[in-house]
Amino acid sequence: MTTKVAILGGGGMATACASLLTENPETSVSMWVRKPEIADDINTHRENRRLLPGVKLAETVYVTSDVDAAVADADYLVIAIPTEFVRPALTSLKSHLTGESPVISVVKGIEKDTFYRPSEIINDVLGPRPVVALGGPSHAEEIARRLPASVVAASGDIELARATQELFSTDRFRVYTNIDIVGVELAGALKNVIAIAAGICDGGKYGDNAKSAIMTRGLVEMNRFGSSFGAEPATFSGLAGVGDLITTCMSPFGRNRKVGERLGRGETLQQILSSMEAVAEGVNTTRSVYNLSEEKGLEMPITTEIYRVLFEGKSPEDATHTLMTRPPRE
Ligand code: 13P
Repeated sequence: MTTKVAILGGGGMATACASLLTENPETSVSMWVRKPEIADDINTHRENRRLLPGVKLAETVYVTSDVDAAVADADYLVIAIPTEFVRPALTSLKSHLTGESPVISVVKGIEKDTFYRPSEIINDVLGPRPVVALGGPSHAEEIARRLPASVVAASGDIELARATQELFSTDRFRVYTNIDIVGVELAGALKNVIAIAAGICDGGKYGDNAKSAIMTRGLVEMNRFGSSFGAEPATFSGLAGVGDLITTCMSPFGRNRKVGERLGRGETLQQILSSMEAVAEGVNTTRSVYNLSEEKGLEMPITTEIYRVLFEGKSPEDATHTLMTRPPRE
């Protein structure tokens, strides 16, 4: 029996998910792309020329800006849009959804004003329905080229996590499961903040030692923050934690790392964001994580300094000095 999957989003990750899912002939895939001109362009060229150039999409992927056509009878919805657009997109298509199909989220961020994780936004807008978070080191550019990758599907409903594992697994894409959706979602969001700091090390030519220190101490911050929200510490040593942290901090594709690199070279945030096609989630997430950690009294020194660089005009050099001259620690 054919499984119908509707992907919401027209970005690199949405396109990579479409490529992966079409490897199974039993899965039929539609993509809902909000702007008709972009849906038309992908349809005409069978390629997302703007956000995933050079990757051909199978003829069987049905790309449309017509929401009814995209989501009709879908067994699963895959959400692959930046955090800030999840609420408006779901609000606009809510009345078109029939049934209670589970939602698979590949979104990695925390909502600006509510501080909600993606699954919380989904349940807030669509009401109670099963949600699974797919996280881990998963750059779209590599997945779509069938380079080997491993991720984790997390849901309070382990059967849904296993169903997602079955749906996405290929001989080049290995999916693990766990029940720690809080940890997987928070790790996915927090590593983007640390990737900005790692990028600053690249741009400022601080060297390998500095970057490794940022990643290691960044992981401690991620774990501290996650634990205070009930996440499992083990999640942070897994694919969604240290795994995604390494990819995002090291990769030349990394959007968040690139933001940091350009800050480290002396560009302003405004200059950087106005010249970027794709969204670097870490910028908004830094604000959310900083505000939440202030509220909860959590010690998050790297996040705090990234917040000051992004939103208060502090120079990366001064931020580095602050981090290096903090009171001694065990
Ligand atoms: P960037 O947005 O920094 O490119 O990271 C993508 C990602 O989450 C890789 O797993």
